[in-house]
Amino acid sequence: MSGKLQNRLSIAAAYFRHKTVLSGGPIEITLESTAKCNLYCPMCPRHIYTFDNENMDLELYKKIVQDCKDYVDFIWPYGIGEPMIHPSIFEMIRITREAGIRTGMSTNATLLDDRRAVLAGDVVNETIALFIYRQSFQYNKTSYSTALAYIMLFVVVVLTNLYLYAVNRRAREAS
Ligand code: SF4
Repeated sequence: MSGKLQNRLSIAAAYFRHKTVLSGGPIEITLESTAKCNLYCPMCPRHIYTFDNENMDLELYKKIVQDCKDYVDFIWPYGIGEPMIHPSIFEMIRITREAGIRTGMSTNATLLDDRRAVLAGDVVNETIALFIYRQSFQYNKTSYSTALAYIMLFVVVVLTNLYLYAVNRRAREAS
């Protein structure tokens, strides 16, 4: 039995026994890759709380992933900050995926440029869910039309990758 399945069963058993202390580890974790954000939206908790505007060290991220890879199913590599601010966010996603852990990302999409749009598009059909807050553009210097162009580029990369994936799969099945 895999460590992840064992962990889930252990948590379920503790739940049904009304235990308040679990013997298993978490199934999902959030790692705050960065607490920085380029926006200051009116609905953001930043108006209430103060956060240290720091990036997480890549080596620390790697260590946590290695430490929990036997029982954690999913890692969110972001929390209060905008993940695309972190210079190594796509490296973090790669490390997570290679450790056999699914991952996802939420972004305000205002930092998409040609490089990030392609990188995000390259990984999205495997493990990334990209959520775009349209309202955020009114609080950013990037013009909506520029941002929209990069979002379109991102979508084109995703569709191209999905198409190539389907073609490759069909070729594998036929051989
Ligand atoms: S994009 Fe998100 S984290 Fe950044 S200010 Fe807006 S709500 Fe807050």
